[in-house]
This record gives sequence, C-alpha cells and structure tokens, in this order.
Amino acid sequence: MKPRFAIAIHGGAGAILKSQIAPEQEARYRQALAQAVEKGYAILERGGSSLDAVQAVVETLEDDSLFNAGKGAVFNSDGKIELDAAIMDGATLRAGAVAALRHVKNPIRLARAVMEKSEHVLLIGDGAERFAKERGIELVDESYFFTEARWQALQKAKARESLTEKEKHGTVGAVALDQFGNLAAATSTGGMTNKKFGRIGDSPIIGAGTYADNETCAVSATGHGEYFIRAVVAHDIAALMRYKRLSLQEAAEEVVMRKLVKLGGVGGVIAIDRHGNIAMPFNSDGMYRASKVEGGKTFVAIYKDEK
Ligand code: ASP
Repeated sequence: MKPRFAIAIHGGAGAILKSQIAPEQEARYRQALAQAVEKGYAILERGGSSLDAVQAVVETLEDDSLFNAGKGAVFNSDGKIELDAAIMDGATLRAGAVAALRHVKNPIRLARAVMEKSEHVLLIGDGAERFAKERGIELVDESYFFTEARWQALQKAKARESLTEKEKHGTVGAVALDQFGNLAAATSTGGMTNKKFGRIGDSPIIGAGTYADNETCAVSATGHGEYFIRAVVAHDIAALMRYKRLSLQEAAEEVVMRKLVKLGGVGGVIAIDRHGNIAMPFNSDGMYRASKVEGGKTFVAIYKDEK
C-alpha cells in the first residue's frame, strides 16, 4: 500500500569514514538523526503539513552543534559565521531563502517568513536580519555560534593543513510528504570552512540545493555548493522526472552519480516523491541520513554500505 506520509533528512555528506569517527561520536550522530527524523514523522502522523515537518527537523539540527548549520556552523576566512537556508512548498511552488546571516539563531525560520510574509524569495545579509527583527524572529550575538572544533578547523585551513571532510563543510536538510499529498523541502548550512566573505552556496539557491514540486519531487542537497549550483542539481532531478519520466531513484542517481561526478562535484541529496518513495544517493564516502515512511521503522545511516 502506498504510504500517506514519509520523511527523509540529512546532516551533510563527504569523506566520512568509519575509521575517522570515534564510536561515541558516531553514536551521537545516529541518535541526533533518529530524534530529528522522528520529530518530523510525529508532525506528519498527527496530520501536520510537510512544511511544518521539514522546518521542525531543520530547526532541531540547527540547534545541535554536531551539524554545520545554526549553532556549530563553520567559519569563513574572516573568522565569521555566515548562514544560508531555504524552504520550498511543493503545493504552490512558493519559496523563501536567506543568505549571509550573522545573527539569526534559526535561519530556516527566517526563510519560512520570507516565503510567507514577504513579496520576495531571497533576502540576504543586513536586509534579511532587519526583516527578522520586524517579524520578531530571534537574533543572537555572534558568540552563540562559536564552537572550538569549527574554530580549530579554520586555523588548520589557514595553515593549509588538510581538513577532514567534516571540518570542511556539512549542511542539514529535510524533505517530506504529508497526508494531504503535499511535498516540501528545507535546507540550512554554514557553508564551507574558510569560504570567502560574502560567498553563498547552493543551499539557498532554489533549484540548486533546495526544490519542491508536488508533481515531481522534493530535494535537499549537501556537498560542494559551487558544483551543485552549476549543475542545478535539485531542479534537474525534478526535470528528469517531469520531462523524461524517470523514477525518483533514476533521476536522483543520474544527477548525483553521473552529472555531478563528471563535473567533479562531491556530495549527495535526499529526495522524496508524491508516492512516498525516497532516494538518498551520494557520491562521497558517506552522508549522515535518516528516513521514516508511514508504518515503517526509523532508518539511520552514515556510511555507503548501509541499506
Ligand atoms: N552545500 C553546502 C555549501 O556549499 C555545504 C555542504 O553541504 O557541505 O554551502
């Protein structure tokens, strides 16, 4: 039977190898992913919207310093935090995005407000933060985002030491199908360690790192953003479904495992279609991910071979 609702989430992709993660840390990741996906699932189960579910999941992960979004975000080359996020409603194709935020505790909440309470799709920097103030969305001092691990990663990058993938980047995201047949996608990130001041990645670019359309799918991406922008990853997956009639799995694999690989773009996506099918391909060693389909078990995975 076709599930009425389902959700998938990610916490970043990259060269995540079992040999590089301590068992306690791996357990913390798995627990955080399980809790987040179950939170989203519970919202869908009680008849909540896919938009509410993906926003709640992303806020939870933004608040967790394990992940590169909100608290725990990476530093740019000036030693500053600049946060990007986007949300999209597959029922109406409305979207809201924010970029280069320095003080917004939960960027995804502001992205939702841009979608619902402004005439615009993308607000950045000071203008976005002024809008946050107007809407009563929580602003915090920059020190809130500081974590020692991210600071050390920046120092290593500046000394041209090689960083582990986890130190370089990461992102959080969620896609969901609700009981009304509506799809939604949300993505939030600190971007990439040592990025240039003012650099914006794929996450807040609608069609690149985030996309949702009830007629095809909802997608949230993670990986080296410049490549995801150039390959227009999220929209390309939807377009392959719409115009070439590929299945969700085929379309997502075509873009992540072939098109992106050809360009040299490392990363992955989570994607869901209106039948509740989920695809989570990645061309890196690992991707923090989890999913839960109506009536099914909570699936949590990090490495390649986990099915
Ligand atoms: N895609 C993000 C960016 O380029 C980073 C990541 O997902 O790892 O900003």
